[in-house]
Amino acid sequence: MSFASLKLIPPLLSALEAAGYEQPTPIQASAIPAVLAGRDVMACAQTGTGKTAAFLLPTLQRLETRQAPAGRGPRALVLTPTRELATQVRDAASLYAKALKHLRLGTIVGGVPYPPQQKLLMQPLDILVATPGRFLDHMERGRVDFARLEVVILDEADRMLDMGFLTDVERIMAATPPTRQTVMFSATFEGRIATLAGRLLKDPERIRIAPTEAQNAKISQHVHYVSDVTQKKAMLMALLNEGAMGQAIVFTGTKHGADRLATAIGQNGHTAAALHGDMRQGARNRTLAQFRAGTVRVLVATDVAARGIDVAAISHVFNYDLPRSAEDYVHRIGRTGRAGQSGSAVSFALRAEHGALKRIERFTGQPIPTRVLEGFPVTEVPTHGARGPAPAGRGRPRPAGDRNRAGRPGGAPGGGRSFARRSPDRDGHGPAGRSRLESVGGES
Ligand code: AMP
Repeated sequence: MSFASLKLIPPLLSALEAAGYEQPTPIQASAIPAVLAGRDVMACAQTGTGKTAAFLLPTLQRLETRQAPAGRGPRALVLTPTRELATQVRDAASLYAKALKHLRLGTIVGGVPYPPQQKLLMQPLDILVATPGRFLDHMERGRVDFARLEVVILDEADRMLDMGFLTDVERIMAATPPTRQTVMFSATFEGRIATLAGRLLKDPERIRIAPTEAQNAKISQHVHYVSDVTQKKAMLMALLNEGAMGQAIVFTGTKHGADRLATAIGQNGHTAAALHGDMRQGARNRTLAQFRAGTVRVLVATDVAARGIDVAAISHVFNYDLPRSAEDYVHRIGRTGRAGQSGSAVSFALRAEHGALKRIERFTGQPIPTRVLEGFPVTEVPTHGARGPAPAGRGRPRPAGDRNRAGRPGGAPGGGRSFARRSPDRDGHGPAGRSRLESVGGES
């Protein structure tokens, strides 16, 4: 399978060649012909699968090969959940559109001044990438003209709903021409996402790329049981000092947790910076640029801010706090193992997080192997015998047969595991430390 066999036009083929893409990924092979044919598409694909090119390439081709109506406003609208993802989609579009002469791209996101965006909306645009909140704001002030709109793409739709953008998205969609083509990408198509898709898409081609085993195979995953936050922090510092570490993202559950941890990592001699939604957009952009350039080695981020980050040198993702949803886990670990590299995803599980861990294993269909780090004896272990710490020794995974397939048939009695303390004297800080359930919302 080649990009040429998907009937992409020469300027796009030459851009792909320049970008070093040799052949389409599975999602590209399925989605490109459907979008090119003008069909509505509902595609279930995780981040890291090449989904951005899967919707941008055929959209660019349709825009290039069809007559552009006169007037102002966008011909294609891409809605993304975060500012960072919007920027990334725009950058990908300009990469693929390099050889297309008259293509105009724009971005409308929050956290930046309005006047340049007003000006942008006065012009004819080919592709506009926007986050829902700020875009709706412009719409309600009467600044958006949809007369030329041909296609709407909802990227990471599941995430948009998680972040509370459902109403905004529906209001935007209601204002678009009913003749539009609609393309929706989501990591899952269950529950509210299926309902939304049912309302917005007309006879869509459904594309589901099975959970990317090949992709996950490049990412080794394991979990450390920890008894308290002090131990968790000490283990993270020890792991950051290991030689094999390139760049790392450490995920925390809260914004102030990210700030505090970035400071602590800095005090331990690493260049570290926090990234979260309480930061001004300029500071977020600067931090990301430093991380991309490698001058910041460890990025400590909340889920929302780290969405879509694509930096090939990320060798490790740490789930310092486990994520609130299993989908977030998949998105987080997808920050490593990019562009054909391998990566490591290391999670820490406090006693209170065992339910979250179980949900993640059920969602991914893979048990996460346990590891014990030399110098950090495990004091919290699951009962019911099935899952326990690996034999002592740095980074040695427990043999597969010893793992509990929690939550699946044949798992531990009751479908789960509970924890016992090995040496209560090491657990003076209480079992769970600070809750990971503090809100991180409102970031876009
Ligand atoms: P995405 O899932 O859209 O975030 O893409 C993940 C990464 O894969 C990005 O760095 C893309 O540039 C890269 N990529 C996308 N499609 C291909 C392809 N066909 N061959 C090689 N790399 C690709």
